[in-house]
Amino acid sequence: MRWWGWGQSGHPPALGAGALGYLRETVGLGPRPRPPVALASVRLPESRVGDATLDRLRAILGSDGVRDDHYARVLHAAGKGYPDLVRLRAGAPQGAPDAVLYPRSHDHVMAVLERAASSSLAVVPFGGGTSVVGGVAPLAGPHAAVLALDTSAMAEVLCLDAQSRTVTVQGGIRAPALEAHLRARGLTLGHYPQSYEYVSLGGCAATRSAGQASTGYGAIEKMVLGLRLAAPAAQIALAPVPATAAGPGLRQLLVGSEGVLGVISELSLRVRSVPHERTYEGAFFPSFAEGVAAVRELAHEHALPDVVRLSDEQETQMSLMLAAQSGRLKGALTRAYLGVRGVGQGCVTILGFEGDPQEVALRRSRTLALLREHGAVGAGSSPGRSWLHGRFEAPYLRDELLTHGVMVETLETATQWSKLHALHRSVGGAVAQALRRQGTPGLVMCHVSHVYETGASLYFTLVARQREGEEISQWQAVKEAAGDAILAGGGTITHHHAIGRDHAQWLPAEVGQDALRALRAAKAELDPAGVMNPGKLLDAPTRG
Ligand SMILES: Cc1cc2nc3c(=O)[nH]c(=O)nc-3n(C[C@H](O)[C@H](O)[C@H](O)COP(=O)(O)OP(=O)(O)OC[C@H]3O[C@@H](n4cnc5c(N)ncnc54)[C@H](O)[C@@H]3O)c2cc1C
Repeated sequence: MRWWGWGQSGHPPALGAGALGYLRETVGLGPRPRPPVALASVRLPESRVGDATLDRLRAILGSDGVRDDHYARVLHAAGKGYPDLVRLRAGAPQGAPDAVLYPRSHDHVMAVLERAASSSLAVVPFGGGTSVVGGVAPLAGPHAAVLALDTSAMAEVLCLDAQSRTVTVQGGIRAPALEAHLRARGLTLGHYPQSYEYVSLGGCAATRSAGQASTGYGAIEKMVLGLRLAAPAAQIALAPVPATAAGPGLRQLLVGSEGVLGVISELSLRVRSVPHERTYEGAFFPSFAEGVAAVRELAHEHALPDVVRLSDEQETQMSLMLAAQSGRLKGALTRAYLGVRGVGQGCVTILGFEGDPQEVALRRSRTLALLREHGAVGAGSSPGRSWLHGRFEAPYLRDELLTHGVMVETLETATQWSKLHALHRSVGGAVAQALRRQGTPGLVMCHVSHVYETGASLYFTLVARQREGEEISQWQAVKEAAGDAILAGGGTITHHHAIGRDHAQWLPAEVGQDALRALRAAKAELDPAGVMNPGKLLDAPTRG
């Protein structure tokens, strides 16, 4: 992974001259391209761990299990959120881990955590490092130094129980590696976050991740059946039984624990047969309101596809304009868009069905019939194919936009159907107003992509010209406006990006101080020295 962005070098550029021209006109570009600085120019503080501590850690992990070189520290200095990338590209991350550890097993993790607790060293579990909420920020808290615990050497498939349809893996296994292992055996996990190419399964469990097909396959919390937690003062092992009434849901206490209670060293996941049929297609609605009403009815009638993604008017227009600029807008799609109400109106939806061919045909015809009753016009398979083909491309595009001086950030929430429209308006309005106040009016777009019987997620994307030299304060103003509007409108501060550092200020308002005290009590038992991931989830900063 590039230390300053996404993917490997050599990835083909996504922004053609036409798309750049469109962005120049609509949001504005920086005066000149600003590539990231050279690796050697990244400024890091001196490492605070001495040779004696490193030697003790090497005695546990071996000499290749402990690194404190410049490259390893830069690579673990931040996640992949917008402020992370802005700072990294400028060569000025907010600190770095003093050393990076690569344990290979649960026992390694236990030994390292015991050592860290007795030496007052903070530990940041680091899976794929794709957190967009500061979850892997190298914060030492009150401790002497901070270690990144990189789980990438814990990547084994431990056991596949094909009869029970469960797989047990080490927490550091990457999603593509697990999926390849399963596919070779006719199975799939079905978990495809947009960050799929780099996420670890332990990281996904620790953040309650939701994949793009969560409507059909469920989010990660539905997939995790058992797990093993290594904590400084405890070990927990929960067997992958299909269901249990043995007290409160301990799995759900650990799923979403964001590394503050311990390290998910192993986990057992539910898997399914690889679908023989995958049908992805597009449709247009006259308006977002009509689209939402249709999707809500699908949810109530149990007629949802496995993937459903409904863009609002702004997102529809932006994606069609960018597709048109790159010559990808096909005839059927244009006709469907124009046929709804005319350019600038209408909302595209992507529908994906997976499964046995006969079952897919039945489900699809029922779903489409319900959607037509709400004014949907079919747009054929090309939007579905094109979405499927490009669904992991957004992070590469973000890197290019940053080079051109464009801020691009995403915000997500979820709420009940009865509050969805008001929340869509209030959050979109608050973000647009914050951008205007910064003197950089941009585009604010949204889609619904994770659908439940009782409500849905809202996923906002904002694109605006960066204020050069003030990128972080510009971002903070938008983030605070959005977070406040989300809570005021009855949304959750996060549907799937987790709390980390950047959402921690809103968690007390969402769950209440007593709930936080209960979680802190659990932490005090598992991690009495408080070395696990300080400054995240439970440590709300005071607002300036
Ligand atoms: C471009 C982009 C798109 C994204 N799209 C999605 C999406 O569609 N859906 C979604 O859910 N998320 C998405 N994310 C967010 C991110 O990918 C998820 O939060 C993901 O689950 C993080 O996995 P990871 O392995 O990278 O974890 P990391 O980023 O390494 O860590 C995340 C948090 O979990 C902790 N942690 C990591 N591993 C462990 C472990 N084994 N045990 C205990 N704690 C651990 C870390 O300390 C940190 O607090 C996206 C991120 C990016 C950059």
